[in-house]
Amino acid sequence: MTSRSRDRRRIVERLGAASRVLLVLHVRPDGDSIGSTLAMARALRVLGKAAEVVAPDPIPPNLAFVPGADRVVGAGATRGSFDTALFLDCASLDRIGGATADLERAGPILNVDHHSSNQRYGAVNYIEPHAAACGEVTYDLIRALGVALDPEIAMGLYVAIVTDTGSFRYQSVTARTHRIAAQLLGLGVRPAEVGRQVWDSRTLASVRLEAAALTTLVQEGELAWMDVTPPMLAESGAAAYETEGLVNLPRSLEGVEVAVLFSDEGRGEVRVSLRSARRVDVSAIAVRLGGGGHARAAGCTLRMSLAQAHDAVLTAARAALR
Ligand code: 5GP
Ligand code: MN
Repeated sequence: MTSRSRDRRRIVERLGAASRVLLVLHVRPDGDSIGSTLAMARALRVLGKAAEVVAPDPIPPNLAFVPGADRVVGAGATRGSFDTALFLDCASLDRIGGATADLERAGPILNVDHHSSNQRYGAVNYIEPHAAACGEVTYDLIRALGVALDPEIAMGLYVAIVTDTGSFRYQSVTARTHRIAAQLLGLGVRPAEVGRQVWDSRTLASVRLEAAALTTLVQEGELAWMDVTPPMLAESGAAAYETEGLVNLPRSLEGVEVAVLFSDEGRGEVRVSLRSARRVDVSAIAVRLGGGGHARAAGCTLRMSLAQAHDAVLTAARAALR
């Protein structure tokens, strides 16, 4: 038995024995965090366990349709205690933001993830770095717990997988990713409806933010980057979470290997999103700057000015491209 399958078995045993589970979303929760966590919370409830989901940041409106999202509470709003804490898709403990108070009333942490940069902060750590989404790992765990997939679980898992794979087009996607998705469609998931909710429900403000940010787009050979600044956010009226996905604009340019989005939301720090096409490990760049992620998608938050962030990240990216 490999150490990874032993980790997996220990997670299943611990979840099977748990009776009150606290599930924690990561900061700026994305489709994988929300979908995996809500699917697992539902599976645990099917098994007769109490399961509560806490979110350090609000769920973005385009993901509020995922079943169970209406039961998610904000940081500090859980009541009572939990014998187990479960983290899905959360690479490091600093990604749980203000949910630390809730965690103090919970038992040992079970850490389930697919980020190679995961810091193994749990009592049990189960990391599948080749999984295209934590949703794939969650699918396996739910099956191993003996829970029959139902339409609610299927929707959570599908949202997790379709969002983290960029709609099934990233390098991490395998035949198995598609087989899992096919099974979820068999349980009633309608991809067109999910696509409309997740990607085609944008606010006019977010499109105006994109237009403003595009005026800063620069391509320098295999490197491209773009900025979001406080005036852009103020003038467009877009919310900070609406910068999600903007890194896909520099990423989509022909010949670009490394794409960067710098997002200065006026709080004395710059959010950096990194993407690569096929060769550069952007998680190595992010980890060195205090963040983390995957080889093809990573990020970090830098407490510095936009100009300083440009300098730090672009210097590292140019070195990685040489
Ligand atoms: P995004 O650019 O979409 O915010 O994040 C891309 C990937 O990098 C995600 O898988 C996310 O989990 C990871 N990531 C982004 N920012 C951070 C960060 O500050 N710390 C860590 N550990 N991972 C991050
Ligand atoms: Mn993920």
